[in-house]
Amino acid sequence: MRPVPVLSRAALTLVLWALTAAPTLVAQAPRALSQRQLTGLKGEAVTSVESMRTFTQQMVDQIFSFGELGFQEFETSRYLVGVLRGHGFTVTEGVSGIPTAWVARWGSGKPVIALGSDIDGIPKASQKPGVAYHDPLVEGAPGHGEGHNSGQAVIVTAAIAVKQLMEREGLSGTLVLWPGVAEELVATKAYFVRDGMFSDVDVTIFTHVGNNLGTSYGDASGSGLVSLEYSFLGQTAHSAGAPWRGRSALDAVELTNVAWNYRREHLRPQHRVHYVLRDAGDQPNVVPRTASVWYYLRETDYEHIKELLDIGQTIAEAAARMTNTTLASTRILGSAWPRHFNRPIAEAMDKNIRAVGLPVWSDDDQTLARAIQKAMGSRERGLATELETLDSGIDPDDNRGGGSDDIGDISWVTPTITLRFPSNVPGLPGHHWSNAVAMATPIAHKGVTVGAKATAMTLLDIIGTPALVDSAKAYFREQTKNRKYIPFISGEDRPATELNTEIMARYREVMRPFYFDSKKYSTYLEQLGITYPTVKP
Ligand SMILES: [Zn+2]
Repeated sequence: MRPVPVLSRAALTLVLWALTAAPTLVAQAPRALSQRQLTGLKGEAVTSVESMRTFTQQMVDQIFSFGELGFQEFETSRYLVGVLRGHGFTVTEGVSGIPTAWVARWGSGKPVIALGSDIDGIPKASQKPGVAYHDPLVEGAPGHGEGHNSGQAVIVTAAIAVKQLMEREGLSGTLVLWPGVAEELVATKAYFVRDGMFSDVDVTIFTHVGNNLGTSYGDASGSGLVSLEYSFLGQTAHSAGAPWRGRSALDAVELTNVAWNYRREHLRPQHRVHYVLRDAGDQPNVVPRTASVWYYLRETDYEHIKELLDIGQTIAEAAARMTNTTLASTRILGSAWPRHFNRPIAEAMDKNIRAVGLPVWSDDDQTLARAIQKAMGSRERGLATELETLDSGIDPDDNRGGGSDDIGDISWVTPTITLRFPSNVPGLPGHHWSNAVAMATPIAHKGVTVGAKATAMTLLDIIGTPALVDSAKAYFREQTKNRKYIPFISGEDRPATELNTEIMARYREVMRPFYFDSKKYSTYLEQLGITYPTVKP
């Protein structure tokens, strides 16, 4: 016979506390759901997303109509923060010192799932939706010529659908929504990481507009990059009266560019380097005292990006010496790590993608798609009607480089995937008015709804399957065993929040009359009086 244990007063208090606190503790711990329960909940989530079609469409149209550039997404963020607060999320604004950045949280306990998508537009991409030729809403104004008006509608819809089920079922888990501010400048996500936004996150689901419904794992094709501004300081003088007394900062900028345009012949084919002039002087008769040039230095891995940084610094310093000016500063404006995505989460997402399938496109949708493909000199293949297979990533030796996204930084601090959803038309150039044509039409709306369904189902997989989170973390440990994340930004760097201020100041008031009014109109096409689709005869 065992001796009866005698509890000390302290131990007794602890037991009593545990008993009273038990319901809370149980609710805080992730609970494995049976396959049957999970399937049932997923079915309900899909129905719920379907019932939110109008709400989803309005979000897509509303953000499209704001057409804001990076760091200037004030209307977009105010609107989204309002939607999320209205649905019970706790929102912190101005994160990382970025006025248009925010974090919205709901729920408690593990798993903590971050959901993100970009929100900024493209310069000079203003375009009437549903019109298959260049017809800007406001000539010269920015617009959603990439489709970043659609991703938040995917994650907000999915999060609301899943939140309702979590509340009803008493499921443990925390949903953390955030915006990809200034993604076109790859200018914020590294700061979010540095400032701890992902320190308690178990899994990140990122969504991005595409032209099929799909996801990937492993190394993504494309590049990482550092975005830098080289500023030179010279001396003014009368350009005709005493040019020998001047020192031209613009000369230093031009020599920097000349040097790069020779040097690029002798770099790996994977590199991509491009620039625009930020300050090229004031007027010809005054020798430019200041001038600056803004570079994107892209390569496919950290080491090669560092090499480009060294080359860039050498060239800029040499240009300053050649012109007897000084290199006043080399300022980092943005950065993005190459991306690597998580296999177990991608496989779970892929199963759900296959269950959801592609949208059913109407003849009107296909007519618009073919007309814009024709206008852009692409093959007239219309919209995707077959799902692609799960993308298992690229061998680094085969990666020829390409676009970048600062989701890369997040993918090196937490298990991450990107879901691409079919809201745009295949075969377009990107960063162009033609990429805006579909983005506030039924094509975008349907694409977002299927994306939200797949996202909601995968959220339930993560919440209801603790083993999935474990395997995601095991994969992440392997991923980061030999490749360590070293941010390109330092503790002292600050987000370049002043970028695009002047452009938006020039266009905002002329764009305002075109903001979507969802109280008066059911769709943005209706508000603009556009016949869908409008194609050239
Ligand atoms: Zn993008």
